Amino acid sequence: MEPRGNLEAGSVELGPPWQALPVLSEQQSEAVELVPAFAAPVLDPRQTSRLVREVSAALPLPSQPHLKRVRPNPDAQRPHALELLLCLAGPRPGTRTLAELLPPTVDARGLGPPFLAPVPARPPLTRAQFEAARAHWPSTFHEDKQVTRALAGRLFSAQERARMQGHMERAVRVAQQAAARGLRAVGAVVVDPISSRVLAAGHDCCSDTSPLLHATMVCIDLVAQGQGCGAYDLGTHPACWFASTTGPQGARPGAVRKLEREDLDGEDGLPYVCTGYDLYITREPCVMCAMALVHARIRRVFYGSPSPDGALGTRFRLHARPDLNHRFQVFRGVLEHQCCVLDPDT
Ligand SMILES: [Zn+2]
Repeated sequence: MEPRGNLEAGSVELGPPWQALPVLSEQQSEAVELVPAFAAPVLDPRQTSRLVREVSAALPLPSQPHLKRVRPNPDAQRPHALELLLCLAGPRPGTRTLAELLPPTVDARGLGPPFLAPVPARPPLTRAQFEAARAHWPSTFHEDKQVTRALAGRLFSAQERARMQGHMERAVRVAQQAAARGLRAVGAVVVDPISSRVLAAGHDCCSDTSPLLHATMVCIDLVAQGQGCGAYDLGTHPACWFASTTGPQGARPGAVRKLEREDLDGEDGLPYVCTGYDLYITREPCVMCAMALVHARIRRVFYGSPSPDGALGTRFRLHARPDLNHRFQVFRGVLEHQCCVLDPDT
């Protein structure tokens, strides 16, 4: 059921430059947590390598593999050059001597009296966390280059950005059509990113009798209708449409999803509704819609404006929860200005 006539005609106003920024997980976004540890000055630098070897063997840090054992002395007023990390201090550290902290297998020659130092509790996940962590204690950092590029706004090429803008402009036009019919101005499209083909477009269709027909729910159902399923009767909303993916057209080259075993529903062996697909939506989805996207196995979500009730960055980050059985990437800010004016928060 492709759109009839020029139902999606209309222009999207030019706005300020936009940037698609990744919405990272809570673990990637949180401030660096510090825990107290005991360290000691290395007063005889000739003993350093032996001390590192003996302390590392006697007091391993299996939960903090990111922590380096030695750091340069940060206090210019004190003469020693290096400091050695001994062990974590626990919740009530108090004052300890070397004899209390070190087992007999460690020869304490060359070490000064121990002191407390805050160290990062977990490995840094982003460059910002790495910079914050190493300000306290040197840490290793296995950088995810894709995350770094995304945070710097350099993940997408000009060609990809042009395609993303085109898809979001389409979602904006669908939202404008909803507004013209007295409905909430939230629009969305589902895209096959391999072919860039739009598979469904929909808008918020909520009414007193159908309060759950948010734009995301409508779009997922329309994709399902394109696969010969679906549940909603959206015939009275001409801007809501789907492309069939079951016939010869749906199987055309470049439109076929690459599927892994985990992409298939264990019960019927068929792909989940949105496996491999992207959603472009003018407003950040709510909790219900975000969970529906988890169940539908969406690949990526791009949204324009944040929402106070948003579940993909504002109130929650459901797309990145380790305890859910599907995770997906989320980017905010695509045509943010045009999307914000569509459905401003009151
Ligand atoms: Zn919703």
